[in-house]
Amino acid sequence: MMIEIDQDIQDFYRGEIIDVHNHLFTPAMLDLMKADMDEKRYQKFSDTFNVPEFNDGRAAKSDQDYLDNLSDSWVKTLDDNGVNKIVWFPFKGFHEAIYHILSRHPNRIVGFIWFDMQDPQASLEILKDAVKHHGIRGVKINPSADHVHPHDKSMYPAYEFMEKHGLTVLSHYGISMAPTTDVAYINPFGIQVAARDYPGINFIIAHMGAGFVRESLFLMYHDINQNIHFDCSGSGSWIKYLPYDSSFEQVYRRFLDAGGVERLLFGTDSNIRGYRTEILKQNLQIFKNMELSNKQVRKIMSGNARRVLHLQP
Ligand SMILES: [Zn+2]
Repeated sequence: MMIEIDQDIQDFYRGEIIDVHNHLFTPAMLDLMKADMDEKRYQKFSDTFNVPEFNDGRAAKSDQDYLDNLSDSWVKTLDDNGVNKIVWFPFKGFHEAIYHILSRHPNRIVGFIWFDMQDPQASLEILKDAVKHHGIRGVKINPSADHVHPHDKSMYPAYEFMEKHGLTVLSHYGISMAPTTDVAYINPFGIQVAARDYPGINFIIAHMGAGFVRESLFLMYHDINQNIHFDCSGSGSWIKYLPYDSSFEQVYRRFLDAGGVERLLFGTDSNIRGYRTEILKQNLQIFKNMELSNKQVRKIMSGNARRVLHLQP
């Protein structure tokens, strides 16, 4: 039952919803991030993400209790908003947290882990265990935080494994909050060679390239294996940094013209603030304004995700 979504949007789309981009935060992850940031940067992060409010929830008796409470409350919000499944991933090194949540909500959560590109050998060992014992379906990578390009040959043994097991790679590109960001690695062109060399892996570029609209459109031309996709997650804060006037709606139009509806996947980029119903609403409102057909909306909201993530219907 969609109790939090406006009636007109509810009437516009009542199909399945799969959200492919969500961050799992725990107090321990937050402590680590804080240690990585200088005071000014942390203050900005804290203000943006309501960290004090998040810290109120630290009273849980154990990590497991904390994860149980957190995941139960997220699943309740998903129920309230008609969201069927979400892809959820923790930060680097916190894979145990998602394993625990997956064992509790296996039908609602598609688990990814964060693949450390600076140590691909150790990450591959973690990934092997994650796939075999915990049902992990893909990885999140962040080339600009790790300062490694996805086509770096050190990544290839991991890609061999991912291709064999039908895993999906979700990569951050464009502007980023990560304190270790090096902009030399934020261009989504970095994904093209890896996607060319591994036709059996589906790659997703986060936030429609977060500012790299032209580059993302070029990638659709060079997508010889049809395995490069884009998630539409986030509020579109990058639009104000484009060198021309634009809007989410105009960006959608360009993506649909260049690559067709098959390339786009719905996502919210929900995070420490909890599930971002407003992004779900914003996306459906844009599709309504654009007068997309039900078939097109269904593909963006869930059909493409089912194909890309190899989920059974
Ligand atoms: Zn994100």
